[in-house]
Amino acid sequence: MSAFLSKSKLMSARQCLKRLHLEVQHPDLKVVSRKTEAAFAIGNQVGDVARSIYGTDDSVFIPYAGGLGHALKKTRRLIAEGPAYPIFEATLQHAGVLVRVDVLLPDGDGWRIVEVKASTSVKDEHIFDCAVQRWVFAGLGHKMTTMALAYVDNTFVYEGDEDYSGLLIESDETEQTDSMLAVIPEWIAKAKRAASGREPDIGVGSYCYKPYECPFVGHCWPADVDYPLQGLGGNRAKLGEFIAAGMRDIRDVPVARLNEKQQRIQKVTQTGDAELLPGARQFVESLGYPRYYLDFETIAPAVPIWPGTRPYETLPIQWSCHYEAGEGAMAHSDFLDLTGTPPMRRLAESLVRALGTIGPVLMYTTYERTVINKLIERFPDLTASLTAIVERLVDMAPPTQQNYYHPDMAGSWSLKAVLPTITADLNYSELDGIQEGTAASEGYLEAIDPDTGSERKAELSEQLLRYCKFDTEAMVVLLRFLGNAS
Ligand code: SF4
Repeated sequence: MSAFLSKSKLMSARQCLKRLHLEVQHPDLKVVSRKTEAAFAIGNQVGDVARSIYGTDDSVFIPYAGGLGHALKKTRRLIAEGPAYPIFEATLQHAGVLVRVDVLLPDGDGWRIVEVKASTSVKDEHIFDCAVQRWVFAGLGHKMTTMALAYVDNTFVYEGDEDYSGLLIESDETEQTDSMLAVIPEWIAKAKRAASGREPDIGVGSYCYKPYECPFVGHCWPADVDYPLQGLGGNRAKLGEFIAAGMRDIRDVPVARLNEKQQRIQKVTQTGDAELLPGARQFVESLGYPRYYLDFETIAPAVPIWPGTRPYETLPIQWSCHYEAGEGAMAHSDFLDLTGTPPMRRLAESLVRALGTIGPVLMYTTYERTVINKLIERFPDLTASLTAIVERLVDMAPPTQQNYYHPDMAGSWSLKAVLPTITADLNYSELDGIQEGTAASEGYLEAIDPDTGSERKAELSEQLLRYCKFDTEAMVVLLRFLGNAS
């Protein structure tokens, strides 16, 4: 075991002492989700911008690549020179706790500490994070003037030229962290015991996903049964109670303890056969022709890339549409622009051209409606034609949820969960490269990066087009399936 606990380990301990224990003793059991990896990448992007905002000609960045000893030594030397210039990633160790401080700014005869977060508000866990840094800093005898938290202002509008000066808002957390300093030693002691002692006897619960998805969910939640209990969905604290009582499979839970939706999931699971109700066919029969099946891919960069856009603003970059003129008479069209210039206007105009003026425009969940409404806000001159599309939108998700369930869907009605239960011919996992939305968003950003070579760009273009087309193909297959209900 390492001689110190990093701040991130202490944050893990705060979420769950067992998480810390597993991270230290059984790191091989850790499975970092795609979502968590994406969150790390976003944190790094915002960190880079913070350095450009707070940096001066003489600011110093302390790399970790040269090893911990080197980073600690360099930090000690720079701080000893007195508060003179900003230091990024100052590396400090005190009483067995290691922290890397995002930003250390000279402030009179002391230092202002700034912790940078990619979130758009201050959260409880951020305060604890700040308090740990402050405790280490003070423990080493350094003088702090202010403890600040810088987070993303999602009302900031990027004006271009790499000018991100308004991207971060600072919140003074000096007072808030004051009251926490006294409990930090107790936390550290608890964390050290959990890290080196026996595995804490902690059952699963809502904290497995809050404030962050724990990388040991696959280890702690039931996985060795046919229908793991978490497929019931609903309140995770309640699921944790069932598991603590020895239940592991959806079928183990007494029906009286389930809500209506869970009872349905359990009932279908117990029969082992899919449920397909006549309402499915009625829904399909209510739809006229021509039918359009629409799906968007979007990006939502924390650090805006195009002038006139805001942090985390959802921006459509691609669509796919299957068109059914009459039963089985299919055609397909799509839009993807990898020039790197903002594609939203061209995307909106191409959508208006592709979707005609009559016939239902099918979507799966209301996401497409949200995206088109945002396009209307962005391009008021297209209001009439885009509103006409919005009025034709039909969400396939509610009738699917009401009328279809298969035990293998494990409580999810996402297209990815439904599709394998209705056809063996289409499988997301067989797609080359891009298989889900986060990867599509990352793939698009990589493709428009000027440093991406033409061969890789062509490969990404093909994968993006195939992935989006796959979604609307899945919708076509699903609608046919629903229409066959007796
Ligand atoms: S999955 Fe839940 S119980 Fe297991 S370590 Fe993570 S937070 Fe703790």
